[in-house]
Amino acid sequence: MTKTKIPILDLAPETNELWSELTAAVEGVLRGGQYIMGPQVQAFEEEAAAYLGVKHAVGVNSGTDALVIALRAAGVGAGDEVITSSFTFFATAEAISQVGAVPVFADIEPLTMNLDPGCVEAAVTDKTRAILPVHIFGQAAEMRELCEIARRHGLLIVEDVAQAFGGDYQGRKLGTLGAAGCYSFFPSKNLGAFGDGGLLTTDDARIADAARMLRSHGSKEKYRNEILGYNSRLDEMQAAVLRVKLPHLDQRNRGRLAAAMRYRELLDGVEGVILPHVAADRTHVFHQYTVRIAEGKRDRVREKLAEQGIGTMVYYPVPVHLLPVYAGLGCRLPVTEEAAREVLSLPIGPLIEREAQERVAEAVRAAVR
Ligand SMILES: *Cc1c(COP(=O)(O)O)cnc(C)c1O
Repeated sequence: MTKTKIPILDLAPETNELWSELTAAVEGVLRGGQYIMGPQVQAFEEEAAAYLGVKHAVGVNSGTDALVIALRAAGVGAGDEVITSSFTFFATAEAISQVGAVPVFADIEPLTMNLDPGCVEAAVTDKTRAILPVHIFGQAAEMRELCEIARRHGLLIVEDVAQAFGGDYQGRKLGTLGAAGCYSFFPSKNLGAFGDGGLLTTDDARIADAARMLRSHGSKEKYRNEILGYNSRLDEMQAAVLRVKLPHLDQRNRGRLAAAMRYRELLDGVEGVILPHVAADRTHVFHQYTVRIAEGKRDRVREKLAEQGIGTMVYYPVPVHLLPVYAGLGCRLPVTEEAAREVLSLPIGPLIEREAQERVAEAVRAAVR
């Protein structure tokens, strides 16, 4: 008997649920004839700002560009150090380097795998300009402590919210707690487009104005380019799609949370499997459901699940500070390195079926035995 496959990520049910609205939105853009910087982008920016509770939202080409443009708009550049996590996607550090600054990697907390405030504070030097926390897998970093460190040392906070659109911290939406928030609409993200897209949020009108200039070749007015910028706009088609999806985001994030709670039930007490830690004062939006399995066993579990058609992923197998671009820094982060050897992300989505989760849990139980 061949069982149906359970992919790590299946976007089809979510897309199908909104199929007619999505196709109508795309068709509207096709017929409207305005494909760059039109009414959809403007409306989406307004709706996203209202949803997040922030003054300004600026659509850009990707989450990576949101980080680059936010850093530049906030004045971070050559000679500056930015403290960030190494337990993230490469783009976080890449953006810091691309603006001419230096990423300084601080270690993470073993439970949430987010930046450890103590390690952040220890990494502050007189060159430090900013802290760039990543809300990894959909759960907020320790923002109260990080903001307090930033305040004490006069640093900016720029949040990487690529994995946590809709998540909150002590009642405030992520991406609104520092100088700027950076979001990605890569299709697999909690709020995903049908291509690349990103957003930058801020309450600071100067950062918003600078970001708007930077995304359009450094110009406020066409052909009056003032500085070197980028071609980094969110396009109309993606904005129209995101406008359809945004009103459903909370419900979908609740679906992810419910799926995570089911995994907790199904995997409770399985020896050798550490389940995700959920802090009480924040809403985890479970971009990933990431368990930890002792070193050595993790890869075997992954293979055994694959044999049964169950997709899993290791986010991330090599921490950023050990990738070729940064390995020369010679930095050691024991907690990050241990996490990279132990993490395993299981299939999750807002509409994942209970039977699929039961099969995943049963397979995990059998594999660690
Ligand atoms: C996806 C992601 C990015 C980059 O977003 P893109 O839209 O793919 O450029 C940055 N940081 C983190 C943590 C991510 O997960």
